[in-house]
Amino acid sequence: MNLVKAVTLRGVQAKEVDVEVEIAGGLFSISIVGLPDASVREAKERVRAALKNSGVSLRGRIAVNLAPADMPKEGSMMDLPIAVSLAIRSRSITLDRPAIFIGELALDGRIRPVRGAISAAVLAKEQRLPLYAPVENSPQIGLVPEVEAYQVETLGQILSHLESGIPLPQVPPYKVEDLPLSVDPDWSDIRGQAMAKRALEIAAAGHHNVLMVGAPGSGKTMLARALRGILPPLSDGEILENLMVKGLLDSDDRPDRRPPFRVVHHTASTVSICGGGTALRPGEISLAHRGVLFLDEFTEFRRDLVEALRQPLEDGSIVVSRSSGTVTYPSRVLLVLAANPCPCGWWGDAVEPCRCSPSDLERYRRRLAGPVMDRIDLQVSVSRLSPEELVGLSSSHGESSSKVRERVSMARERQRARWSFGGWGCNSEVPEKTLRKHLNLSSEGKKTLLQMAEGFRLSARGMGRVLRVARTISDLAGDDGVSSSAVMEALAYRGEI
Ligand SMILES: [Zn+2]
Repeated sequence: MNLVKAVTLRGVQAKEVDVEVEIAGGLFSISIVGLPDASVREAKERVRAALKNSGVSLRGRIAVNLAPADMPKEGSMMDLPIAVSLAIRSRSITLDRPAIFIGELALDGRIRPVRGAISAAVLAKEQRLPLYAPVENSPQIGLVPEVEAYQVETLGQILSHLESGIPLPQVPPYKVEDLPLSVDPDWSDIRGQAMAKRALEIAAAGHHNVLMVGAPGSGKTMLARALRGILPPLSDGEILENLMVKGLLDSDDRPDRRPPFRVVHHTASTVSICGGGTALRPGEISLAHRGVLFLDEFTEFRRDLVEALRQPLEDGSIVVSRSSGTVTYPSRVLLVLAANPCPCGWWGDAVEPCRCSPSDLERYRRRLAGPVMDRIDLQVSVSRLSPEELVGLSSSHGESSSKVRERVSMARERQRARWSFGGWGCNSEVPEKTLRKHLNLSSEGKKTLLQMAEGFRLSARGMGRVLRVARTISDLAGDDGVSSSAVMEALAYRGEI
């Protein structure tokens, strides 16, 4: 029976690979079969040198078979299992049970960290197999609860462990409680902008996608950055999910409790945002999973790019196709868009006059309407600060991130409790019919809504959005019902342009 297991990555999932070796007489040669990519084929040289420097000389014609044969294998993480397989065969070592090995080998036998270690650890836990992994990958592996994992530094160390039972240190569990939650800038670093700050607090509480409209230099980017700091910290499971994506790109990424924040510019390619490419990698929308995806200058984005975002925003995951099949990456993000109010940027500004013609404005507003705008619950204007605000008479600018985060977390708790019967976490996820049924709209609220619906000519969709946002505003206030003032406030974010 074959006992040495490797893994290869398919999206964020690690797949088990059996490493089989055959050694026959004759001139020395190594061949690797079983759909290896270039990096696996290059393992030959590293494995041979590392084994030699660890006291194992290879002889004869060697065939390494990676099974199942029809699954493509990628990455240098197969160096270690191939080397261990060959050493076991050459030295007649017996393993008493199957085990997974991951690691890239340096020529001198040191073991280097690999991408995808956390995915391998999740697989090892599921299969109840021990995992031998590079010591540098321990922070990621230690995040997976109840995994049996050993940290190794050199090939020699692992061979003496397998041969003579010299114990190896176990990967210690990683403590996330001590990780920082503070984000730069802090909520209290933002001067003025009371309405925008309030809109973002509501967005954070109900996980509502939001559009900020404002002149250049009004601070939209700073607001978006600070939003990350008022979102509830990631749960253990979310940290893991997040790191599984990041771990595909980076071998020494550290766990982080803070939701990710990723900025995308309109010059970005579809592959960089959605994922894919020849060296299949997750895109920005997946790297922002469980956090904020910020699209600045949204009206400048190409139509096809905006169109490509629609499905992943709706599904919370994105399917990327390539010749050998498809992979799925997660993509549950809080979408924040920023745009100028008009082509020249000064429409509605208190000082600068707008130089756009009515037809310019019309064309511009059409660019803002579109597939992704259907997913935006809140719109808010961000105006430039007045001279008084800029001078900043007081050094403090309201509540700190941690204070607002507490309120947001409480509102999330209320939503989770209300929607637990359907498995939804936030007001933004609940189907509209269900939301209306459990809205608990007060009679005053209903009256206000009826009056306003007429005055503002709200569409059915617009009305749904107002109700959703009003529900979140009430959750922030700790209110079981939805009051008239919550409805009024929600109407203020329905968008003017
Ligand atoms: Zn203008």
